[in-house]
Amino acid sequence: MKPQIKKWLNELPEYVAGRTIEEIKAAYNISNVYKLASNENLFGPCEAVKKILSENIGTVNYYPDSDAREVRQKIADHYKIRPENIIMGNGTDQIIEMICDCFIDEGDNVVTADPNFLIYEKSARKCGGTIVKVPLQDFKQDIKGIMKKVNENTKIVFIASPHNPSGTIITKNEFEYLLDKVKQDVLVVMDEAYCEYLDDAEKFDTISYVSERPNLAVLRTFSKIYGLAGLRIGYGISSADIIADLNRIRMPFNISSLAQKAACAAIDDCEYILKIRDTVKAEREKFAEALKKEGIGFIKSCANFMLISTEGKTREIVEELLKKGFIVRPGENLGMPGYIRVSFATPEIDDLFLKNLIKIYRTFVKK
Ligand code: PMP
Repeated sequence: MKPQIKKWLNELPEYVAGRTIEEIKAAYNISNVYKLASNENLFGPCEAVKKILSENIGTVNYYPDSDAREVRQKIADHYKIRPENIIMGNGTDQIIEMICDCFIDEGDNVVTADPNFLIYEKSARKCGGTIVKVPLQDFKQDIKGIMKKVNENTKIVFIASPHNPSGTIITKNEFEYLLDKVKQDVLVVMDEAYCEYLDDAEKFDTISYVSERPNLAVLRTFSKIYGLAGLRIGYGISSADIIADLNRIRMPFNISSLAQKAACAAIDDCEYILKIRDTVKAEREKFAEALKKEGIGFIKSCANFMLISTEGKTREIVEELLKKGFIVRPGENLGMPGYIRVSFATPEIDDLFLKNLIKIYRTFVKK
């Protein structure tokens, strides 16, 4: 006999996180390990973040500001909005969870693409909701197909742009189509965890729609381009009413004091962000060229990662890459069998990765 968990917990999809550097070092007895599995920024945070963290390390005996006022004000100033329109989360993950906790009951559903970021499903199912999945079309979210599946029990539509794991985006027209068609009592969540990686031509100002659309929430994070994944801090922007609703279920002190300080410093350094964006763009192009030359299939991405085809040899390729010290994500774990998802790193690490990948590919796929 042991204490029994709720029955439905057994049905929750398992989120398989990327393997850690220490785990791989120990398992393969190697000293250089590169984690390209979780779309982190391998350049790390900007210098101002490192400085503010070391200056504030002695204050961790105090609880943080429960309402994260300084960082919300910074974000508000950055986007020319009001702090009342912003909620902070212990990572965007926590905001997704709060949204489902707030709006999903037994019998409700959420509509999203298949595959999509797994936390949408996990959070909705946890609340007794069901998930309605609409297959990607040509690796893109099928906005019209998603709209067709919205019914009287739908509470939320989750869109990720760039989408994870494909790296594809939705257009401004698709976004407007969705907002125009959807019923006003359905919350549209536009998850833009990777939006800072977009080219100017691919970008449109989703935040500017929030003032006219009380059923829109835009999610962003400091985990990706800002390089703060380990501190866990993300934010949501929505109408003051929706933010007030979310605040009812938000746990006090959900953002650590150091994360708040770091985010304030990170958002100020626009130059650093542009530098990372341009570097990653060059890496994306380098990957595309090298893979094309070798005849290796891939999905054109707008983010800091890419799906690469494995021609059915995912397990072998992942294992050989691990032996060389590269951790990548098998597509099976992300609903994309037949692919690996690889995050771009620094130009030096990427060169080494491509060299190894091509060698392994030639051994296992193109003999
Ligand atoms: N949304 C998407 C699409 C993601 O890929 C991720 C991170 N993997 C997140 C949200 C969550 O980011 P975080 O919780 O680190 O802010």
